[in-house]
Amino acid sequence: MSGLLDGKKGLILGVANKRSIAWSCARSVAREGATLAFTYQGERLAENVKELAATLPGSLMLPCDVTNESQVDEVFKRLDGEWGGIDFFVHAVAYAKAEDLEGAYVKTKKDGFDTALGVSAYSLTLLAQKAAPLMEKRGGGSIVTLTYLGGQRVAPGYNVMGVAKAALEASVLYLANDLGPKNIRVNAVSAGPVNTLAARGITGFQDMLKIVREKAPLRRNTEPEEVGDTAMFLVSPLSRGITGEILFVDNGYNILAF
Ligand code: NAP
Repeated sequence: MSGLLDGKKGLILGVANKRSIAWSCARSVAREGATLAFTYQGERLAENVKELAATLPGSLMLPCDVTNESQVDEVFKRLDGEWGGIDFFVHAVAYAKAEDLEGAYVKTKKDGFDTALGVSAYSLTLLAQKAAPLMEKRGGGSIVTLTYLGGQRVAPGYNVMGVAKAALEASVLYLANDLGPKNIRVNAVSAGPVNTLAARGITGFQDMLKIVREKAPLRRNTEPEEVGDTAMFLVSPLSRGITGEILFVDNGYNILAF
């Protein structure tokens, strides 16, 4: 059976376990025929990622802490060697210190601010910078990142991560403008709350799930598969006219005034 992404090669960053949004993205793009490379941050979660990647034949596994530029360089060097370029990457990576995800945002220290913005926002720019030459070799490409409504409005407890998502979303616009002439598209999926490892670190996360379930126009929480399928759409030729977009996959919650 032919798939939308037959012959395409893509990199997926941010699989921690089977609940990760990155894993749903991987399953959706693999279903459409893409061949994938996965990164893992440290040996702690490498086994998880290896087990999952093994279920998608032909997948590569590479170490990558996105704050370590030489590791990022190694990833793209390896992909260039193995595949002679790449067609897309999905950036589903974010981190903030636990102490910065509770109480008031106003108490955030510079160190916590730099960490959250570095891991969760600058990493997209670094990866796009390094991936662009490999995408150009294949006539263009598509970059997708994951964001949340807390980057545009106040979500209590989301704090410095909201500020990081605002920077990430602005990066999507600037990167889309820079890379468009090379036929490289850059978009973000703004997902509703999904119960993952990272989400559990946010104070009041269970309340967020309940409120969305009760108030979202579609009256349910976001399923990771819905996010995965949208990421698949954004890396596929079906979305060839779309770049610099922040696309909500949240059962309509973002349209509400209160
Ligand atoms: P997750 O499964 O915990 O994934 C987060 C990933 O980020 C993990 O694989 C983590 O690796 C990785 N990461 C953290 N620091 C890193 C670093 N320095 N280098 C490389 N990787 C690093 O959680 P998730 O919810 O699926 O998050 C994926 C993305 O979706 C994030 O951008 C998140 O903000 C976004 N998002 C989530 C929700 C939600 O409700 N879950 C909603 C909207 C948007 P380690 O585990 O090894 O640290």
